[in-house]
Amino acid sequence: MLERVLQEIRGRRRFIVTSHARPDGDGIGSALACAQILRHMGKDADVVMHDGVPRIYQSLPFADRVVRSESVPPNDAVIILECDSIKRTQLQGLEECFLISIDHHVSGRNFAQVNWIDSSAMATAELVYRMARLAGVPIDADIATCLYTALMTDTGSFMFEGTNEHTFAIARELVLAGADPALCARHIYFGHSTAKLRLLGAALTNLNREGSLAWIWVTQKQMKRFGAREEDCEGLVNYALSIGDVQVAAFFRELPDGRWRVSLRSKGEVNVSTVAEYFGGGGHKCASGYSLDGPLESAVARVIERLRSEVAVNAT
Ligand code: 5GP
Repeated sequence: MLERVLQEIRGRRRFIVTSHARPDGDGIGSALACAQILRHMGKDADVVMHDGVPRIYQSLPFADRVVRSESVPPNDAVIILECDSIKRTQLQGLEECFLISIDHHVSGRNFAQVNWIDSSAMATAELVYRMARLAGVPIDADIATCLYTALMTDTGSFMFEGTNEHTFAIARELVLAGADPALCARHIYFGHSTAKLRLLGAALTNLNREGSLAWIWVTQKQMKRFGAREEDCEGLVNYALSIGDVQVAAFFRELPDGRWRVSLRSKGEVNVSTVAEYFGGGGHKCASGYSLDGPLESAVARVIERLRSEVAVNAT
């Protein structure tokens, strides 16, 4: 399938590269690297995202060139990374474009004209790296920095289940190419806003436990009080998962329309993607997400009920 992707790229000139709305490190890092690889191949390439680049990723090379838009500009093809549908990009006009999807999610879907989905990869960045290698594009320090950051964030700093010698082999190649691991980590893990830390305090005040489950939430009111943005919620769920005897953690964030956005994380024994898919979302075994209707009490009750049965299935 990689050969097919390259064949389709070689026959075209103007590319738009995008990812899902509210992009995470793999979405941003892979897109920035992919566009630069395309430029090395002699193509015109722009990264276009519905949402801006979250603050912690703004120091990545080429991040200042990302175009924020509601709709897709004219192009010969759009490469959609780390995303399972047109809808999740939140960009208008993609239905009329030639689409190439590159993704590593188990819940990935064949929605594009060309679909390269490889769930054995720990991050979409791995696939973009392979693409550069096969295309004969040299990985310079800028591309390496974007790909390393994507790999580091999607593996939870090389801690998530599935991280193996292959992951480290790619990380090694990227470091040899010029990625600085300490600097990449500093921007992500030591670059938080004060609002995020205040929000974390509020979320932990709402910590709930039941057996091996833990859950926390934040409301719109709390977010407004601290001046917190959506992106300040990223990663809060990991604090609930960090409790010793917790196997699965859920984070509920109230959306402006009163619905609730849920992030699920597992230490590996329980597959949370089946729960996310049940509610119309997706993701991986250890990290998944979706949205559902409120109010909070019923959203929590529905989610915890599903998680309970998933834990029970796992125990049998
Ligand atoms: P997060 O909890 O950080 O929003 O998402 C965790 C993982 O689940 C990411 O890999 C993300 O792409 C995936 N994910 C989150 N929300 C959705 C969703 O609504 N639909 C799908 N298909 N995947 C999602």
